[in-house]
Amino acid sequence: MDNVRVRFAPSPTGYLHIGGLRTAVYNYLYAKQKGGKFLLRIEDTDRTRFVEGAIENLIRSLNWAGLEIDEGVMMKDGKVTEEGDCGPYIQSKRLDIYKKYVDQLLESGHAYYCFCTKERLDNLREGQKIKGQVPRYDGLCRSISLEEAKERIAKGEEYVVRLKLPHDEDITFEDEARGKITINTNEMDDQVLMKSDGFPTYHMAVVVDDHLMGLTHIIRGEEWLPSTPKHVYLYQALGWDVPTYIHLPGVLNKDHKKLSKRQGDVSVEDFKGHGYLPEGLVNYLALVGWSPEDNQEIFSMDELIEAFDTKRIARTGGVFDVKKLDWINSHYMKELSADELLDMSMPYIEKAGLFTKADVEKDPEHYRVLMETIQDGLDRLEQVPEACGFLYDDYEVTEEDALEQINSESAPAVIDALQEILKDMDAISLEDAGKLMKQVQKKSGVKGKNLYMPARAAMTGNVHGPELSNIIYLLGKDEILKRLEKAKSYRK
Ligand code: GLU
Repeated sequence: MDNVRVRFAPSPTGYLHIGGLRTAVYNYLYAKQKGGKFLLRIEDTDRTRFVEGAIENLIRSLNWAGLEIDEGVMMKDGKVTEEGDCGPYIQSKRLDIYKKYVDQLLESGHAYYCFCTKERLDNLREGQKIKGQVPRYDGLCRSISLEEAKERIAKGEEYVVRLKLPHDEDITFEDEARGKITINTNEMDDQVLMKSDGFPTYHMAVVVDDHLMGLTHIIRGEEWLPSTPKHVYLYQALGWDVPTYIHLPGVLNKDHKKLSKRQGDVSVEDFKGHGYLPEGLVNYLALVGWSPEDNQEIFSMDELIEAFDTKRIARTGGVFDVKKLDWINSHYMKELSADELLDMSMPYIEKAGLFTKADVEKDPEHYRVLMETIQDGLDRLEQVPEACGFLYDDYEVTEEDALEQINSESAPAVIDALQEILKDMDAISLEDAGKLMKQVQKKSGVKGKNLYMPARAAMTGNVHGPELSNIIYLLGKDEILKRLEKAKSYRK
């Protein structure tokens, strides 16, 4: 087989939809597995949808997710550039190329000029709708000769160019995920290939580019499946080999509808903002619409590259399940070192006003232990400030269970022993903290649950929480003494 070349071809609409990222991931996995190339092409022929800065944003999101672009549009030193022999890779820079092939199709009789006005087309569509028919062009301009058309154009008439589909012909292609698909041209419309503004439509541009850029496999969303027969016909009309198609099922919400921005978070940036790690998001997305042979769920990028199999792509849409995403992400959260966790959650911590980088520099050990203490219970980075609450929130005992512990039989002895021992200590080192409860046990004569539960309740106002010796170290002598005094005031 020729070297595999695949592409991700987004429109620069301002953000990268997670469904788009999933498409990009599958293309990337396939390219890497086959030792091929992963291209980025920008499809910006619909000028009404153009958004400033959108290309930068797209590439940043792809790079954040760990997808490196081999060819096409990429960023170097913060600037958008293009690399490769098949450029330009931004469609609005390729207008003369599309025109050349549109002209070729006109000459060979596979396309025709259409002069129908918007008004006529609107009326036609309305009439068809009323009759319950599928709206489509009625072919009025098909019979206008090329000569006559050119004369009308010379006189200044507005036109578009349409594909001239043959009547009653089966178009067949193979989709690697769905098998053989056949559609009759009688079911299809004479697609506009070039608009009156001289811009190609998506259908014309995608075929020309996919061919000229040497793409071997077209991996894209299933919303393009109905258009594929037109594309296949265009390849045939231009005398080109048809690439292999692989259409992906949608990424759906709980109601099995397309995940849309109106219902909440859909952009990669949204998910990044919530503190999902790229490894977690990519791992999860890979499983929406594809499944491995066994039940493995945690996959590094390298493992995905190895396991990915286009034959195992689902035919029906995958529901986006935030709980599962959280679960997968929590796995990667646990893999971070304490320093990484601290570094990555600093924006959330500073926003919540807990502590600053300068604080960390003064006592790195303290903050490293803090991260180790909270790490296991985290799904996302944005949860870090809340997880640090035991240290930063005002101390209060409101929980029923905690009040019960503070009022338990053993509590006075435990609290007294704690106070006495702490008063005689200097600052508490991590080592001291590890030994403290043993000392309290000795002094108070209380052990087990009767020792630990009231101690925890008195120090944190909670009966559950992270490792007690870490909490002791993190709170420090003065704060604990303050809390113990206040804890007593909750005694009935
Ligand atoms: N520009 C199209 C999109 O935004 C790409 C379709 C394709 O991959 O052929 O979805």
